Amino acid sequence: MIIVTKSGTTDEALDAIREAVERTGLATHLSRGEQRTIIGCIGDERLLNAASLGALPGVESVIPILKPYRQVSKGFRATHTVVEVGGSERARFGDSTVVVAAGPRSVEGREMLLRTARSTRDGGAAVLRGGAFKPRSSPYAFQGLGVEALEFLAEARAETGLPVVTEVMDTRQVETVAEYADMLQVGARNMQNYPLLSAVGEVRRPVLLKRGLSATIEELLLAAEYIVAQGNDQVVLCERGIRTFERATRNTFDVAAVPVLKRETHLPVIVDPSHAGGRADLVAPLAFAAIAAGADGLIVEVHPAPASARSDGDQSLDFEAFGTLMARLAPFAGAAGRTMGTLQEVPA
Ligand code: PEP
Ligand code: MN
Repeated sequence: MIIVTKSGTTDEALDAIREAVERTGLATHLSRGEQRTIIGCIGDERLLNAASLGALPGVESVIPILKPYRQVSKGFRATHTVVEVGGSERARFGDSTVVVAAGPRSVEGREMLLRTARSTRDGGAAVLRGGAFKPRSSPYAFQGLGVEALEFLAEARAETGLPVVTEVMDTRQVETVAEYADMLQVGARNMQNYPLLSAVGEVRRPVLLKRGLSATIEELLLAAEYIVAQGNDQVVLCERGIRTFERATRNTFDVAAVPVLKRETHLPVIVDPSHAGGRADLVAPLAFAAIAAGADGLIVEVHPAPASARSDGDQSLDFEAFGTLMARLAPFAGAAGRTMGTLQEVPA
């Protein structure tokens, strides 16, 4: 941390600032310029309270040097993290392939889920998505089928072999959802629900963490840090569009977030082009852009009959469009030096 002092700061004030830093066990280094003096703090700056240092007489600004996140940061690991999802057959996020999770936004019933699971598997998806507990902006909107949907998801996994990702909204649901699901999704609206982040950090299930609607990249990484700090390092980050002034798309796809996250963290990063654009015709172009930017995968909404979906059908692909998308993704993956990720058998 660097402390910049105001011009004309007295030696007494400089001494008081240095003493405040040194009381925490850090050393200081003084650099006197013509106008002002800069105090370098040497040691673990996380022990310092930037706000209270900033309030001392003579301090103009306090500039942190280290990142506030630690275990998720790139430097913490020698290699990138591969997140394995599933049982005897697993999808592997972060192993340099492009892994696609697909399925309905909400599980609306048994038949529609089974049909969607079969079709997305045949199209090349490696994970089945489907909401059982739905975070809806309106309390009057369809809230999901709950535990019944979890049972359908388990049945779809048994039939197709696809591991399942589904959202958990509340600490009280974590145990139940973890009983059924292979991967727990923390949705955009819950990215800063710290008790929930800690709770999913305590279970041994991989987590899909979506970026909050107005969360910065740093806040997303700090949310992941909550999970990893509890001992669960199997976290996949998801850029799903953020809220801006633009109204032509449902959200604004922050494509730069992908390379920035890949630079900052060893965790895999995927993109949700369905939420980012909010329209079926935008899914393919945003998916191509995601792969070009270095994404480790995609999560895509697919519905047997989008026009009659119980929520947000306008952003879901039908089976044919999903098949076309998957066929078109492969050359983009190839151009990015990747292949499409498939389920991999785990030796017993
Ligand atoms: C979802 O994927 O079903 C979902 C609700 O996403 P988000 O949390 O990104 O809105
Ligand atoms: Mn949503």
